[in-house]
Amino acid sequence: MVLAQLGGSISRALQQMSNATIIDEKVLSECLNEISRALLQADVQFKMVRDMQANIKRIVNLDDLAAGHNKRRIIQQAIFNELCKMLDPGKPSFIPKKGKTSVIMFVGLQGSGKTTTCTKYAYYHQKKGWKPALVCADTFRAGAFDQLKQNATKAKIPFYGSYTESDPVKIAIEGVERFKKENCDLIIVDTSGRHKQEAALFEEMRQVSEATKPNLVIFVMDSSIGQAAFDQAQAFKQSVAVGAVIVTKMDGHAKGGGALSAVAATKSPVIFIGTGEHIDEFEVFDVKPFVSRLLG
Ligand code: GDP
Repeated sequence: MVLAQLGGSISRALQQMSNATIIDEKVLSECLNEISRALLQADVQFKMVRDMQANIKRIVNLDDLAAGHNKRRIIQQAIFNELCKMLDPGKPSFIPKKGKTSVIMFVGLQGSGKTTTCTKYAYYHQKKGWKPALVCADTFRAGAFDQLKQNATKAKIPFYGSYTESDPVKIAIEGVERFKKENCDLIIVDTSGRHKQEAALFEEMRQVSEATKPNLVIFVMDSSIGQAAFDQAQAFKQSVAVGAVIVTKMDGHAKGGGALSAVAATKSPVIFIGTGEHIDEFEVFDVKPFVSRLLG
């Protein structure tokens, strides 16, 4: 189920509830079941859906609500708050400061949109007057450096990488050192992805992170990976200190639920979303407007 459909299903469930003459436990349960079904279809993790349902039932105590209360509004508010809670881990991510060097390491599986997102992130800041730079520490995928180089050149962002060096740690260190000397304030390290979660990848991420000491590690996730999101995000979190999430391909047939799972697994906020292949198809992610849109 794509996000727009999810929003539609939730507002339909709320509408049905408000059509009922009396909102009692049964009507509330039906409404919550309907919403839970929609969330599950959008790939939100089962446990999160179950917890949400229990929380709302606890918060909305129909017996305690005096007759004059607008139950629909109270229930709607409770659902809104619960969805916001799922997307807000409670602590903001590291925010780099313009003019002060920050190293930002990107991690994620191959195909997640990592390289594209590195450039989008650099470009977004460059437009705001930053001095970003890109380091290609992906020595695993043939063509990775060329791709980064092409993207960076188009956006006029300095880059560093090698066609011959096979040690990603060495490249990462050299690139970061170089751009520190050049007073770049946002040094972005793109890493290798591989096709699946495997021990060698996580060990490599650990080493690159140890060597470059990033101020922030961003986990990049394809919005269409669905239920796999939780495990994938958690696996990265266990090897490096993931501090933020970027969800890509929100323009396609995106199942939004994966984003909620990634937040839960990494205890880190979503900071941007990718909404297309083009360099400026990139948006700051804000929880409340996102959930408002979702609820229609
Ligand atoms: P990497 O292997 O993780 O570095 O992934 P790439 O950056 O090479 O991206 C894989 C594919 O996804 C490319 O074809 C990108 O153009 C595409 N892509 C990346 N982000 C987005 C997005 O937000 N929307 C869409 N539609 N495509 C994207």
